[in-house]
Amino acid sequence: MRWIDTHCHLDAWEFGPQAKEIRARAAIKGVAHCVIPAVEVGNFEAVRTLAHAGGDSYCLGTHPLYVPRAAPDALARLEAHLLAHRDDPRLVAVGEIGLDYFVPELQQEPLRTLQEDFYRAQLQLARQYGLPVVLHVRRSADRLLKHLRDLSRHGPAWSGIAHAFNGSAVQAQEFIRLGFKLGFGGAVTFERALQLRHLAQSLPLESIVLETDAPDIPPHWLYATAQQRAAGQPQGRNEPGELPRIAAVVAHLRGISVDALAAATTANALQALPRLAALGAAG
Ligand SMILES: [Zn+2]
Repeated sequence: MRWIDTHCHLDAWEFGPQAKEIRARAAIKGVAHCVIPAVEVGNFEAVRTLAHAGGDSYCLGTHPLYVPRAAPDALARLEAHLLAHRDDPRLVAVGEIGLDYFVPELQQEPLRTLQEDFYRAQLQLARQYGLPVVLHVRRSADRLLKHLRDLSRHGPAWSGIAHAFNGSAVQAQEFIRLGFKLGFGGAVTFERALQLRHLAQSLPLESIVLETDAPDIPPHWLYATAQQRAAGQPQGRNEPGELPRIAAVVAHLRGISVDALAAATTANALQALPRLAALGAAG
């Protein structure tokens, strides 16, 4: 079985020098390819280096949670990197970009407008450089969709991934209509995540991709409850090698075989991020 982890922060400090070993462990479990999104200008080199070292791919962008500390020239520097590496086959998207209305400071001015300005400017850069986008969606789906609709009114459709999707069925349909795939990961492994599990089960198979978002969003078998943490147990660290087990949950929810899910989600990832095809990500 060969899987694509469409969202994995392999350069995160939690992995540190173990990143290579963790990637190798995932490969043994059947994870053929990892997409490594950047979060700010300061980690552009790190994601590119890791992607090249591991035969993986990367995205460049400023994540909404990193907008507050972004330098004034962050967008200009993104553009310079997109230009300098435009022929790098491992650069597969602009990301991780988006809007976050979960964090209280980001809902208020001036950060509310600033993150929206970053999002829109980065969408425009993606169109200018002919790249898909990888979106961070947290209580922000309608606003994200509004900008996507605005910018695609004239010109080509979008492609890309709404990562760690956790919106409504109506919002899911609208992302799909605009050309996006929806990313599912560790959150679907929790039995109480009824709405999310229902989506993972009922959305068209051709609209789903799989991801871990490692080291974040641990699946339930790694998750330490507040009570366990209070007793001294650390929060479990997610890693790309968990993808096959997460996938097994999704396959079970949908009542299909893991083989069928692997084939479909791999094809979907290649459609969302077309440069993956030339990298042999499908195995
Ligand atoms: Zn992420």
